[in-house]
Amino acid sequence: MAENGITEQLKQLRPERASREEIEYVHATPYVQQVEAVCKRGGGMLDLDTPVCRDTCETALLAAGGLIKAVDDVMHASDSLKHVFALIRPPGHHATSMRGMGFCIYNNIAIAAEHLKRRYGLHRILIVDWDVHHGNGTQQVFFEDPSVLYFSTHQHPHYPGTGWIDEVGRREGQGFTVNVPLPAGTGDAGYLYALNTILVPIAREFKPEFVLVSAGFDAHAADPLASMNVTSQGFGLFTDLIVELARKSSQGRVVMALEGGYNLEALAESIISVFKALLANGEGKLETGGEPTSAIERVRKRVEEITVVQREYWGL
Ligand SMILES: [Zn+2]
Repeated sequence: MAENGITEQLKQLRPERASREEIEYVHATPYVQQVEAVCKRGGGMLDLDTPVCRDTCETALLAAGGLIKAVDDVMHASDSLKHVFALIRPPGHHATSMRGMGFCIYNNIAIAAEHLKRRYGLHRILIVDWDVHHGNGTQQVFFEDPSVLYFSTHQHPHYPGTGWIDEVGRREGQGFTVNVPLPAGTGDAGYLYALNTILVPIAREFKPEFVLVSAGFDAHAADPLASMNVTSQGFGLFTDLIVELARKSSQGRVVMALEGGYNLEALAESIISVFKALLANGEGKLETGGEPTSAIERVRKRVEEITVVQREYWGL
């Protein structure tokens, strides 16, 4: 970021630790106690791929607290601060109320959304999750909650296995979970087609007061954990689309939280492209390459299936 002249254009915010009360907006007390106990005894495993060391508790509190700080600053800012990207780890979107999994300890984005509801009385929050994995934890937390619309694109079938198109929310939350499982191999054009055809019209109707993004970069073509074909510039294009959508409904408020991304070069390049899009504030358009029509054809078919399901709730 420094090499690309990005750092000097930014205002840096210092994260603060989330309080126990804030963590428990989303997580059950026994789970929080379990995490604390594992840290205290020097470390252990929460599940097969979620290791915890002595410092994990502190870091996880700073991650969640950093995102809370980000949304607070955007809520308090006059109009100069509309976009924040929280470069935090560990990620959060797999953590459910009762357990950590998939490298995630506390569900940062869910905690931030709850904070927006409780502290500011917001009742239309949009979470866009473009991490290549389905955010099962975030979905679970808001499955019956119509005030938080959870929208996820993810490779399917893939870890953690959830996120099929018929998971649409329950009770009052019905229609407020929108899953867009995409076939392996989907690239920029396929993603943009899905975002434009499903997310844009639903967001227009939902009119979010705040937009949160679970920004993972593991859908990148170079990522070792998944099989999608998104380019670094592609993530900038997704950001353009989200900034535009936020401009129309949420006074431009967009806060992004880092989720996955396992090729560090691709991660750095993608994040720079996101920052460029945030700094351009919808003014600069990035170029993208094409991809084979067969890949887009498969996405079109899937999007058609999703439209049929979601038409029950939204004017698609
Ligand atoms: Zn991921």
